[in-house]
Amino acid sequence: MALTNLQVRDLETVLHPYTNQATIRDTGTLVLERAKGIYVYDVDGKPYIEGMAGLWCTALGYGNEELAETAYEQMKKLSFTHLFGGKSHDPAIELAEKLKEKAPVPISKVFFVCSGSEANDSQIKMVWYMNNALGRPQKKKIISRLRAYHGVTIASASLTGLPANHTDFDLPISGILHTSCPHYYRFGLEGETEEEFASRCAQDLEDMILREGPDTVAAFIAEPVMGAGGVIVPPKGYFEKIMAVCRRYDVYMIADEVICGFGRLGEWFGSSVLGYKPDAISVAKALTSAYMPVGAVMIPEEMYQATIIESKKTGTFGHGFTYSGHPVGAAVALKTLEIYERDRIIEKAAAKAPQFQAHLQALADHPLVGEARGVGLVGALEMVAHKPTKKAFEAKAGLGAYATAIAQEEGLIIRNLGDSLAICPPLIITPEEIDDLFDRVARTLDRTLDKAKA
Ligand code: PLP
Repeated sequence: MALTNLQVRDLETVLHPYTNQATIRDTGTLVLERAKGIYVYDVDGKPYIEGMAGLWCTALGYGNEELAETAYEQMKKLSFTHLFGGKSHDPAIELAEKLKEKAPVPISKVFFVCSGSEANDSQIKMVWYMNNALGRPQKKKIISRLRAYHGVTIASASLTGLPANHTDFDLPISGILHTSCPHYYRFGLEGETEEEFASRCAQDLEDMILREGPDTVAAFIAEPVMGAGGVIVPPKGYFEKIMAVCRRYDVYMIADEVICGFGRLGEWFGSSVLGYKPDAISVAKALTSAYMPVGAVMIPEEMYQATIIESKKTGTFGHGFTYSGHPVGAAVALKTLEIYERDRIIEKAAAKAPQFQAHLQALADHPLVGEARGVGLVGALEMVAHKPTKKAFEAKAGLGAYATAIAQEEGLIIRNLGDSLAICPPLIITPEEIDDLFDRVARTLDRTLDKAKA
C-alpha cells in the first residue's frame, strides 16, 4: 500500500526508537491522532484497543481530564523550579510523602527522575556512592539477569539482559553481570520441578557471587515480573531463595517496579505480590499513568546517610537532573496516585485479574501457543512451531511481528517480544472490554496460524 504524506514525512525526519529501520521503510508507521479511555485512533479515525497501555504505562487510559487540568493548573501556578541546592516545592514534597506512605518497605528519601532508565542508572550510582561512603569501594558489581529490561542509558542498558541492547553498543560496561533468567517454560530441565528450577536459579546467583567474590558484589536488580523480556513470571519460591542469597552476602536488592508498580500485578507494588522485600525501588510509567515523564528512586536510610557523608567530603551530592522533581510532573503524579486511591483502581484491577488470566489460559489450547503466562492485568502468549517440543519458530520467519500487524488490522495494539505476544491494557479496562480484547487476540492467532502453516 502506498504510504501517506504524513508517513513519508515521518520516515524522512524521525528516527524511531526500537524499530527495525530497514522494514519500517516499506510498512510505514501507524500515525495516531487522539485517544479516549482504552482506545487510540489513527489519522483516519480507526479505533484500536490499546492492549499494551502504550508501553506498559497508561494505567488510567486516555483523555483523563482531571490529570490534564492538574497539569494546566500547575503550569499556570509554578511551571518550573528545580530541586538543586536547597529549593523545593509543594507537589514534590507531597509526592515524596505519598510514595513513602505507599512503599512496601521503609523508605527514607525519594529521588526524582524523568524515566525508568534514569531511575535505574541512578540506583547504580547510589549503590556505588553508598559503598564508597561506607569505606568498601571494592564492593561495586551489580548483578542483573538475562532477558531483564532496565533501560537504555549506558549503565541501565548494561543492566538490561537482551542482546539487541548490547550488540555493537560495546555493552555491558564492566562490573555489570547477568545471571540466569527464571523462565521455567524455556529453561526448566526435563523432569525438573518449578521449585527445583527456582533453587537452581538461586544457586546460579550464589555461584556467581562466590566466583566474583562477595566483597566485590554490591547489588542485585530484578523486575518482579520481567516485562520486555517476555512477561516472565518467576517460578514459585524464586524470590524467597534469591533474597536469601542476597542477604547471605550482603548484596542490596533493588526492585525495578517500573512496569509492575502501581497495580499492574494487583497490588501497589509487584514485589509484594511476588513476596520479596527490596532495599531500594525504581518506579516510573504508571506513576503518572504516562501523562508526564516522571520516575523515582526510593532509597533506604543507609543510602541517604551515605549522601551526607559524601557531601561533607565533596561539598555536594553530585547527582541530579534539571527536571528531577519537575513541578508539573510531580503534581500530575500526585493526582494519579490520588485517583488510584480514591477510585480504588488497584483493587478493581485485582478483581478483574481472574477474568483476564482465564482468557489468557483459554488461549493456551490454541495450536500456536506454547505457553500462556501472566499475573494481574499483564500476560503473554508464547507462540511456538511445535508444542510438544516447545520448538521456536525461526527468527527470520518474523511471526511475532506478523501477529502484531494482524492484531492492528483487528483494531488491537499488542507487542511482540520475539514470538511472545504481550498484553497489558490500561487498568481501567472494563470486563466487557477484556472480552472484546481477547476476541481480537483469538482472531489474530487464527490468522497468524494460517501464515505459520503456509
Ligand atoms: N525498567 C523496566 C522494567 C522497564 O520496562 C522500562 C521500560 O520499558 C525501563 C526500566 C526503562 O524505562 P524508560 O523507557 O522510561 O527509560
